[in-house]
Amino acid sequence: MRKPIVAGNWKMNGSRGGVSELVSEIIGVGSLPCDVFVCPPSVFFDLVGSLIADSPVEMGAQNIDWRESGAYTGEVSAAMVKQSGCGYALVGHSERRTLFYETDVDVAKKFKAAVAVGMTPVLCLGETLEQRESGYTEEVVSTQLKTVMQALSVAEFGQGVVAYEPVWAIGSGETATPALAAEVHGVIRSLLQDRDSAMGDEMRILYGGSVNASSAAGLFAEADIDGALVGGASLIGEEFVAICRATGTN
Ligand code: PEP
Repeated sequence: MRKPIVAGNWKMNGSRGGVSELVSEIIGVGSLPCDVFVCPPSVFFDLVGSLIADSPVEMGAQNIDWRESGAYTGEVSAAMVKQSGCGYALVGHSERRTLFYETDVDVAKKFKAAVAVGMTPVLCLGETLEQRESGYTEEVVSTQLKTVMQALSVAEFGQGVVAYEPVWAIGSGETATPALAAEVHGVIRSLLQDRDSAMGDEMRILYGGSVNASSAAGLFAEADIDGALVGGASLIGEEFVAICRATGTN
């Protein structure tokens, strides 16, 4: 039985005051039927870490550098974010791939760096609209997944979580239908099982792309959708909590 996860990716949003309000709205509701973590901008790790300290809510990094230390101005290592309270790290988010030119090979290194320090990497995969319309969805997602999976042992890769995030659905308000998302989740599940059947059965595969309180339950009803990575709606406490609660309706 895979326990669902709902993760909030706050991106480059928020202020110390706003973040405190948002966290108190989330932790204020008490227990939720899923694992929950939020990814604040890294300058807020200490603040958010202290606010969630006595709650089941955990924290993740939006990005990490794969190197341990050195002259890499502006970067933060896996060990640094772990020390700052993060148990998870997003790797390969489409905004990192597109705006910061991250390749599948970079993403594999980040995944490995997160596992090496005992964090759970969340590997983000997804096709652009053009790729989908040209019939390349399966090929794109499969290459993104296999490049990372083949760079790691089964034991290492099994420490992670996968997030299918069609690029055309991120921040667009256009959520994939449950059937469409389920089809790709099924492809991802098979690829994972081909590598190792137990690892493939156990790995949680999240959906991301304009998930909100209205669309969540329909998505979570699909057998291979084990939760959500949420951007915009994770900035609204009530909405985020409703998405978390929707994992408990199936
Ligand atoms: C994301 O940034 O991972 C995301 C899914 O964003 P949104 O929910 O806003 O589409």
